[in-house]
Amino acid sequence: MSRSLLIAIDGPAGAGKSSVSAALAKRLGYIQIDTGAIYRSITLFELRNPTAFNLASIDYKASQISDSTHHYLNGEDVTDAIRSAEVTAAVSRVSSRFEVRAFAVELQRTAARNYLASGFGVVLEGRDIGTVVLPDADLKFFLTASIEKRAERRSAELNEDLSAHVQMLNDRDAADMGREISPLVQAHDAILVDTTDLDFDEVLNVLMAHVTKRIAD
Ligand code: C5P
Repeated sequence: MSRSLLIAIDGPAGAGKSSVSAALAKRLGYIQIDTGAIYRSITLFELRNPTAFNLASIDYKASQISDSTHHYLNGEDVTDAIRSAEVTAAVSRVSSRFEVRAFAVELQRTAARNYLASGFGVVLEGRDIGTVVLPDADLKFFLTASIEKRAERRSAELNEDLSAHVQMLNDRDAADMGREISPLVQAHDAILVDTTDLDFDEVLNVLMAHVTKRIAD
């Protein structure tokens, strides 16, 4: 059996990380960890419990059902709720807090370590995987694309106005790149993949070529 790798995929919103991470994990028989979903679940909890926000009361779990990942907050399936406009608008604020990041990073490292110990490779996608969560990952990618292309993909996905998405992505990029703790930045040893002019299969092929080479090394 080939060696199981820890793969980090970081980049700004709309660069295609989630879908390509899922496809890469599926192709390799690895587990995908969508770390944005963890920050989104914490944000949903905060929006619902503004005065009684307590990280110790949060139990987050993910599980694979058919071809999609479901996210659970204290036993409730919040897969759709964490994609709401309210959560998206608040998540960068919540995720910039020190205690929130410490909690989420610990959760992510423990999950990655446990999967690896059970013989599974892991694809973690987010903003700070290669820099903070798993600085010793076997392979790191930084996916990016022009703001126009990222907004175009998001607005097509949600069937919403393009200019509103340009604005939202600009705001989220600024918050994620400008925060004090673990800002969104390319790790020095990450492979930069600009997806602006690539279709989905082309991006997946670029990543697979690097993975295949790394496994053979
Ligand atoms: O990936 P997604 O767009 O779902 O992430 C939502 C938000 O969660 C990001 O805009 C960012 O504020 C936060 N995030 C983070 N660190 C990660 C993953 C996501 O701060 N590793």
